[in-house]
Amino acid sequence: MDDLHRHRSLYKGTTPPWKETYRKRCVDRLKNSRSRLLERYRQNAESQQGCGSGASIIVQEVMEEEWTALQSEDRRLPSLWGPEGMAEMFGVMKEYDELAVLEEIQQELMSQEMSIIEEYERNLQFEQQYITSVVEGMEEMQEMHIICPICHMNNLTVNSHFISCRCGMYINTKNQNITPDILRHLLESRVSEHMEDCLHNPVFSVAPNTDSSSNLMISCKVCDYLSIVL
Ligand SMILES: [Zn+2]
Ligand SMILES: [Zn+2]
Repeated sequence: MDDLHRHRSLYKGTTPPWKETYRKRCVDRLKNSRSRLLERYRQNAESQQGCGSGASIIVQEVMEEEWTALQSEDRRLPSLWGPEGMAEMFGVMKEYDELAVLEEIQQELMSQEMSIIEEYERNLQFEQQYITSVVEGMEEMQEMHIICPICHMNNLTVNSHFISCRCGMYINTKNQNITPDILRHLLESRVSEHMEDCLHNPVFSVAPNTDSSSNLMISCKVCDYLSIVL
């Protein structure tokens, strides 16, 4: 057994006393660096289009910062980070099991970093879906499709003179200023009025009125509800 191996086996299995403190503080610092991490992540995504997956974004910084902080409290700890950063530190420590400890902590931090990013991506997706659905909803509102209450098949044609449907439903609305918005409101308020007292589906019908035009009626056989929609 050469010197290096003897040296290694001497340290094998020993956990450095700073491990748990250092690990815990790195984890906390990473959690508190969430906004810095995500800012960096967004910048990376913009500059290299989803490249760089797998590489840590701020884990090394977190480990360096926390080691420096820990070291300033305990002068006995070795100065690990030189100008070469992590690589140099691993070089210094390669004879000890401390290397394995640091790698273990690094792995843990990297998987936490990953889960912060994944959570961010999920929220982003959810947000985009929500925005899309709102925009689609607004577009629908603008077009104001109102399904014919008689045939439940076609969209109503609503203009300043009449409401009509391809199924034959026709109501003269001259002088009533009926817009799609008003019509929808009338339909909804009658339906909810009936629903206050009865859970059955009401039916709509067109009934002739006295001025030789027609009314749109809503009625329910179960509760004897009857009302003019317009
Ligand atoms: Zn119809
Ligand atoms: Zn009813």
